[in-house]
Amino acid sequence: MTARILDGQKIRDQIFAELQDEVRLLTAAGVRPGLAAVLVGDDPASQLYVKSKIAACEQLGLASAFITPPASVTTLDLLAVVEDLNRDNDIDGILVQLPLPSQVNTKRILEAVDPAKDVDGFHPVNLGRLVSGRPGLVACTPAGCMEILRRNDIKIEGANAVVLGRSDIVGKPMALLFMNANATVTICHSKTRDLPEVVRRANIIVAAMGKPAYVAADWIKPGATVIDVGTNRVTDAKEAERLFRNFPDRLEKFRAKGSALVGDVHPDALNIAGALTPVPGGVGPMTITMLMSNTVKAARLRRASPKSSATQSSAIAR
Ligand code: NAP
Repeated sequence: MTARILDGQKIRDQIFAELQDEVRLLTAAGVRPGLAAVLVGDDPASQLYVKSKIAACEQLGLASAFITPPASVTTLDLLAVVEDLNRDNDIDGILVQLPLPSQVNTKRILEAVDPAKDVDGFHPVNLGRLVSGRPGLVACTPAGCMEILRRNDIKIEGANAVVLGRSDIVGKPMALLFMNANATVTICHSKTRDLPEVVRRANIIVAAMGKPAYVAADWIKPGATVIDVGTNRVTDAKEAERLFRNFPDRLEKFRAKGSALVGDVHPDALNIAGALTPVPGGVGPMTITMLMSNTVKAARLRRASPKSSATQSSAIAR
């Protein structure tokens, strides 16, 4: 049996088309959604992430602002930047690219963001809303995993959902989203005993550990759904041969490039799972997609009249 591929790129395109329509309507009503990205210093990986977020804004017709304080910035300077953005009515979403330099108090900065503009969903107020099942802005990666499941008609209610990882940005909000959708949830972490047995009971597995191919194919219940959040770069040829022994095309690509991306789930899971997100091309495209969706949602909730909220798409209504 070969698993159905849950294509994140396809869902990204669907949601982008819905968002484009909503942005057009909001803009015509005088509310052009705007995202501000704050990038401290000149870390190349962070620069790349922020640039792709700004490019997504441009593609959707969102306004964007790019603020680049120097790497020597203090907590107080950065708090002032965030306060300015909180006050700016044209800015609906504030994104502070992490990690921040060590002299900056990251928690203080993230907690200074107005929860109504917290499009990353990291603020304790938004996390609290998620805990109590109230509407709010939800962390982008787990929100994207839910979109993948829902848009592929994978039944969540009553399912045994096992979440591997308990970080504030992926594992915890993922588990809460599952609980709010009436799944029976198990959260696993580095101290969990007998992980294979726990995973074997899952109808839906979300792997977010950052451990390449850690989840073996024979841990997966035949037919289960696998959402692989892990994004790990493999550069060791021996490891690549072990991982891709059943995938000659992937091995060939690795040899040509000298590296490959793998998830937290072994590629052989493709022959056991019922449905599976590929790495790359599964969860990856959903994170920026949900950032855009959150920005449009924040604009609608904060600035749009009840009349324009009637235009919301199903993607953003959740
Ligand atoms: P993180 O903060 O490092 O958290 C990792 C979690 O995995 C921790 O809760 C840890 O447990 C748990 N863990 C580690 N080893 C384990 C083991 N052997 N058994 C069970 N649990 C174990 O990572 P994160 O930020 O959540 O990210 C996780 C992965 O997702 C990374 O590969 C990251 O690159 C990827 N990611 C991808 C996207 C995307 O857009 N595709 C977005 C975000 C993250 P403890 O709490 O006990 O330490």
